[in-house]
Amino acid sequence: MSEALPKVSVGADKWDEAIIVVGAGPVGFRFIQELRKNAPQAPVILFGNEPYLPYDRVRLSALLAGQDSTESLLLPLDDLENDPLFKYLCKEITAINTDWGTVMDSEGTEYSYSKLVLATGSRAHVPHIKGVEMDGVFTFRNMRDAEKLKARTTRSQDLVVVGGGLLGLEAAKAMQGNLTNITLVQQANRIMNQQLDDVAAAALQEKLEAMGIRVVVGAGVKGVVGEHRVEGVALRNGETIQCDTVLLSAGIKPNIELARKAWIKVGRGIRVNDQLQTSHPDIYAIGECAEHREKVYGLVAPGFEQAAVAANHITQGGSQYLGSHSIARLKVVGEAVFSMGDVLDEQQYDKKKFITYTTKEGSYRKLALKNGRLVGAMAIGEWDEIPRIQELITHKRRLFPWQLLRFRMSGNVWSPSSNSPEHWPETAVICNCNNVTRGQLSYAIEHGCCSVDRLAQATGASTTCGTCKPLVQQMLGSEVQQEAEPDKNSLLGTSLAVATALLAFLLIPALTVSTSVQEPLRLDLFWNDGFYKQVSGFTLLGLTVIGLLMSLKKRSKALKFGSYKLWRSLHTVLAVFCLLILLVHTGFNSGQALNQWLLIDFLLLAFLGAFVSVAIGMQHKFSPSVGLQLRKISFWGHLLLSWPLPALLSFHILSVYYF
Ligand SMILES: Cc1cc2nc3c(=O)[nH]c(=O)nc-3n(C[C@H](O)[C@H](O)[C@H](O)COP(=O)(O)OP(=O)(O)OC[C@H]3O[C@@H](n4cnc5c(N)ncnc54)[C@H](O)[C@@H]3O)c2cc1C
Repeated sequence: MSEALPKVSVGADKWDEAIIVVGAGPVGFRFIQELRKNAPQAPVILFGNEPYLPYDRVRLSALLAGQDSTESLLLPLDDLENDPLFKYLCKEITAINTDWGTVMDSEGTEYSYSKLVLATGSRAHVPHIKGVEMDGVFTFRNMRDAEKLKARTTRSQDLVVVGGGLLGLEAAKAMQGNLTNITLVQQANRIMNQQLDDVAAAALQEKLEAMGIRVVVGAGVKGVVGEHRVEGVALRNGETIQCDTVLLSAGIKPNIELARKAWIKVGRGIRVNDQLQTSHPDIYAIGECAEHREKVYGLVAPGFEQAAVAANHITQGGSQYLGSHSIARLKVVGEAVFSMGDVLDEQQYDKKKFITYTTKEGSYRKLALKNGRLVGAMAIGEWDEIPRIQELITHKRRLFPWQLLRFRMSGNVWSPSSNSPEHWPETAVICNCNNVTRGQLSYAIEHGCCSVDRLAQATGASTTCGTCKPLVQQMLGSEVQQEAEPDKNSLLGTSLAVATALLAFLLIPALTVSTSVQEPLRLDLFWNDGFYKQVSGFTLLGLTVIGLLMSLKKRSKALKFGSYKLWRSLHTVLAVFCLLILLVHTGFNSGQALNQWLLIDFLLLAFLGAFVSVAIGMQHKFSPSVGLQLRKISFWGHLLLSWPLPALLSFHILSVYYF
């Protein structure tokens, strides 16, 4: 039985205790990485039956489309290569002997295991229709399929893709090129019918058609037509689509035969409990081959979660897996597609409320609520709130009426200013594939990861499909590369001037009338003489009105001339002038009744304006959330105080001329 073990260099005893992983797909590989975190000394043998080093299957469509090279798909073996207790064997495991605790490869060699992990994944489902065995019929599941299809694109002129799920769409797009005409045939009445509703599917279909891909929905395939080679695809509705190549993309079939032969319990997948153990406690199953609570997942993220739980359970005995949310958050034919939770109308066996938002540009967003709590969401097109939406769905959180109102009006649940990742809850998932949260990324950034690559190394974020890279970049941008405002010095300078003027007003007592008209410089004339007082008053009024109107730059797109920063600088300089003229106009007298209110409003307005300038100028010194908060509070205070100003000014003018 253990004859084969001496082939392995570290000694038979150790390898007798090996943890064996069958299946070198992304999930089997992830299991080993997770295991190494807690058990660096455990001997591990990884078996893979594909003639390649472990690679990232998710990116096969990019390879087929010519956007990725084979090398770039390889999973990072670096650390494991120098690990004397790790062995990767490119062999197929053909049998498990649960009594002896061994597995056997296709050459008849046996290997003992202490724990066995089945990560055998799945294969393309080939439907039982006439002609599927013919030359020119392909599937798309592994590297070899991708290579064959790539070779085929150069001579295929008409291709029919059977299946309008995620993979079918991806394959159709990847195969487009070399002047191939593509028709996509979908049996259901819309594409991606598991993830999208009619509106979203129609939007995506439009996109496909705009790319030149013909889409036929609601049409079952009867068979592949041809004598020795493919000539067409016959549909159940009687139509025959002429083609020379057929790509079957009609779902997946979990690889459960190895387990079934060993009398391990199987259903659609290999049945596992919450610890990912099969009916044999020493044998685990994870990834696309596993069936947990009657669910087999067809995405990579649940597999990664299972890998972490299984590794933890084997080494520490603790973790539990309670299931994953099926989240589709991908780029399909170049369009961002998101679907999570109970969001389809046909799933409406329980009472749900749907709210949708559509833009002229074709973006579509949908929320599904049950008893006020978010239970699902869907989107076609970019939506930067998705990680927060996911967090809401995961925790079945409530949405407040004003959030729903905002969604109805703008398609957003939160105000745009709170949309950068640092405002998101710690548990908001940024990288779906690897389940990396905002909190984990922030922690890694705080501990010195200052580039996307280093964050990827530390957390795994962006290492699988790469969709979240911009978000990871955004987190770095906001947390590490906080840059000072270019006009920070002028902002701080003017706020200092405002502060000085305010202090002067507070500390200097009201100026009185000159004791003699003979004095050479009669400063008191400025606030006592009717003419001078009118000059300073109207100057002040004019400047105040200009200052108030300047704030419209931010709100009105019509005011195009000059940059926003230039307008802001002018506004602050104007404020300093206003204060100086105010000093002259009042002679540090605070007046009475409503005039006093006018003065207080004016001074507070100036004070908060100066505070906004300081907050903007110093924002780079604070944490992004504190900086933004300070800026927001002082800005709104400044804005609110400007509202009573016109009324108070009018009253002041009236009181001067009429009373
Ligand atoms: C083109 C394509 C695009 C995809 N895009 C996405 C996407 O965008 N997002 C997403 O979440 N998912 C995507 N998926 C699905 C994703 O790839 C799978 O969910 C993931 O690969 C499952 O990983 P796994 O390790 O469980 O199984 P697999 O990746 O299938 O790996 C299992 C491995 O085990 C090997 N094996 C099986 N039996 C044996 C045996 N007896 N002995 C030795 N080795 C064996 C198999 O050959 C295979 O190499 C895509 C899949 C494809 C094909």
